Amino acid sequence: MTDRLALLERLRAFRERHGEEHWPQESLEALSNADVLRWTIPREYGGLAIEDAELQAGYVELSEACLLTTFILTQRNGAIQRLASSDNESVKLRWLPRLCTDECFATVGISHLTTSRQHWRRPPVMAELREDCVVLQGEVPWVTGAAHADVIVTGATCDDGRQLLVALPTNLPGVEIRPHAELLALTGSHTGPVRLNDVRVPATEIIAGPVERVMQRGKGGGTGSLTTSALAVGHAAQAVRYLQAEAERREDLRPIAETFARELEAVRGDLLFTARSEQSPYTAESLRTRANSLVLRATQAMLAAAKGAGFVKGHPAERAVREAMFFLVWSCPQPVLHAALQEFACVGDDDSLLG
Ligand SMILES: Cc1cc2nc3c(=O)[nH]c(=O)nc-3n(C[C@H](O)[C@H](O)[C@H](O)COP(=O)(O)OP(=O)(O)OC[C@H]3O[C@@H](n4cnc5c(N)ncnc54)[C@H](O)[C@@H]3O)c2cc1C
Repeated sequence: MTDRLALLERLRAFRERHGEEHWPQESLEALSNADVLRWTIPREYGGLAIEDAELQAGYVELSEACLLTTFILTQRNGAIQRLASSDNESVKLRWLPRLCTDECFATVGISHLTTSRQHWRRPPVMAELREDCVVLQGEVPWVTGAAHADVIVTGATCDDGRQLLVALPTNLPGVEIRPHAELLALTGSHTGPVRLNDVRVPATEIIAGPVERVMQRGKGGGTGSLTTSALAVGHAAQAVRYLQAEAERREDLRPIAETFARELEAVRGDLLFTARSEQSPYTAESLRTRANSLVLRATQAMLAAAKGAGFVKGHPAERAVREAMFFLVWSCPQPVLHAALQEFACVGDDDSLLG
């Protein structure tokens, strides 16, 4: 418990000292020292393989302390979960034991198979199968921490439409890590594109496929997964704590803070119940819709309560509002995005967004 509190304190301290512009190396080291990097690795490869409910509760707690660090952790764990669910024993043995500490960093670049560039006529990354390797050509649009990664779990599409997932060692010839983007928030995640110029990935690095819709197979977060909601809930919690603290000396804020606190507990409780029980009536999508709505409203309430002072760069409120916007675009399935647009436009399911 004390270790846990000390870890959260270290994440908060990094966040306050460095803001969100810098890669949080110290925080990742703190996660490694606290064994958090082993959470999702199966026991036979040196990990802890914690239960999903414990994992999601951990993400809520960590993201309240530092969204930047926790977001990077989830991308790392997304890669680990894809590796761990592979039938290819050699790819697991090569990477999973090394990923138990911060000496090796893995990340994912899979959005072009799910949410990004879906309207393009030609898939962003093409794969050509050869006897002993697969040749990749194209651009992976979004890869968090690409420049820090030893391996990127990414995907590609064959001419016949089948897809595959590979563990892409970043030191292979033809892997070109492009400069990371300047973002509305979380620039320190060092997220940017990776170009693949005829990269020959050994067949031993294939995680899954070639099959139709490879992302529907195996485990590993997935678009709008419970993990994405856990981060939104953790970020909302930070705003709610602020409102509660302000409400101690500002009576008018009391009912607002109390209402948000109740909603926060309800969403958090339903999220953890869903992670624990197959009987849950909630879907990942409905939880993400609620978590997104909450994080956007709670952070704006935080800014409104902080008034002009909160609008000044460096105040926790301005940062919280910018960071909340991330949930509108990150791993956001179409129905969740649609629900957000309906909420913004104040239209219900019966009204047409186009009409
Ligand atoms: C900070 C950050 C970190 C991320 N990290 C990762 C990561 O580590 N790994 C990962 O896999 N993904 C990551 N993502 C990707 C994320 O999950 C989404 O896939 C991404 O935000 C989708 O946005 P896009 O601009 O690529 O979408 P697109 O759908 O490609 O939209 C881009 C543009 O295309 C146009 N457009 C969109 N739809 C249509 C249409 N139907 N018809 C015509 N034009 C259209 C619009 O002008 C739009 O602005 C990250 C995203 C962000 C913002």
